[in-house]
Amino acid sequence: MSFHSELQSLPIKELSYIAQNADTAAVERALSQAHPSLADFAALLSPAALEGPALKRMAQRAHDITIQRFGKAIRFFAPLYLSNECVNACKYCGFNRHNKIHRKSLTIEEVDREMTFLHDHGFRSLLLVASENPLKVSNSYLCQTAMLAAERFSEVCFEVAPASVEDYQNLVKAGAAGITVFQETYIESLYPKYHPSGPKSNFKWRLETPERAYDGGMKKLGLGILLGLAPWQKDALYLAAHAQYLLKHCWKAQIGISFPRLRPHAGEFMPEHLLSDRQFVGLVCALRILFPDVTMTLSTRESPQMRNRLFPLGFTSVSAGSHTEPGGYTHEASSLGKDAAATTQFEVADNRTPEEVSAFLKTLGYEPVWKDWEQSLSFTEKASF
Ligand code: SF4
Repeated sequence: MSFHSELQSLPIKELSYIAQNADTAAVERALSQAHPSLADFAALLSPAALEGPALKRMAQRAHDITIQRFGKAIRFFAPLYLSNECVNACKYCGFNRHNKIHRKSLTIEEVDREMTFLHDHGFRSLLLVASENPLKVSNSYLCQTAMLAAERFSEVCFEVAPASVEDYQNLVKAGAAGITVFQETYIESLYPKYHPSGPKSNFKWRLETPERAYDGGMKKLGLGILLGLAPWQKDALYLAAHAQYLLKHCWKAQIGISFPRLRPHAGEFMPEHLLSDRQFVGLVCALRILFPDVTMTLSTRESPQMRNRLFPLGFTSVSAGSHTEPGGYTHEASSLGKDAAATTQFEVADNRTPEEVSAFLKTLGYEPVWKDWEQSLSFTEKASF
């Protein structure tokens, strides 16, 4: 049974009710569980948990679990945008095909130049990102970029359009370790509002992407929601249920989750479902308490002040110094001059350099890790840090 079938039978009404109405006794019960259930997780998202003193204890527990499972190490990675030429029309995205922006898809030579820049700046873990465009971003193009990256980077992952099992097999052969796919929102009735046309409007095809990637041999599967599109507690519950499903059915893979808040971008979209800093902190803690072993990624969409507070709470991977436009790392030095400057997907909120973020983490006693440390450590070794 795929997760799409399981999603239909999830008692989302009951879980959402708990997330809205749990009392302090339910929060205490949830916090006392060694292995919390989805209902406990729902209680930890409730106002009784997030607006009261329990949040402090949640933060401590989330921190302790993270240290126990991952040590005081935070992995750095860099996103490398390959293309912003998109056939989709996602309402919240700067690359929406209707937006009048400067479009660009990198040639293999330009990709090579971006990789050289990132490698020279210390990155060994790379996330190759591209908009959906079968002509400009074909599977064979992606395989070429994977091969190029695998020569220099210890980990190469993709965040690109959902693909077939066969295409994933090709990417794995070319050197890819994993994929990330954001469902954006799991609320099927809301999904068409944000994805009115193009291949991304197919909710089920997107939802089953991690399963196909796993069948294609991917060792890392990343899930994500974009906070701001839908009632956040409901989407968080679906995200958690999806992660639980993958932990059970794709158990050989490392499961990771991301849940960035929406940022300004080209276009006129205004998010309808914002969540406060306090609620965001609570969500980070509740997810870590529910999932001691999943990796959690913090992007540059949060401000430096917020990121500094969030680092110790449960995140294991962070990006820094990110550019969200194709060619963004090297276009200033490019012989192509201004022509290479494409439009960004969203405004980065933390503009600190990787060195500055790394220096800050060291003041907290963390070791910034620039390569994929999981490759050289077995799960048991990792747990005994
Ligand atoms: S979110 Fe992705 S698929 Fe949608 S418009 Fe942006 S780049 Fe294209």
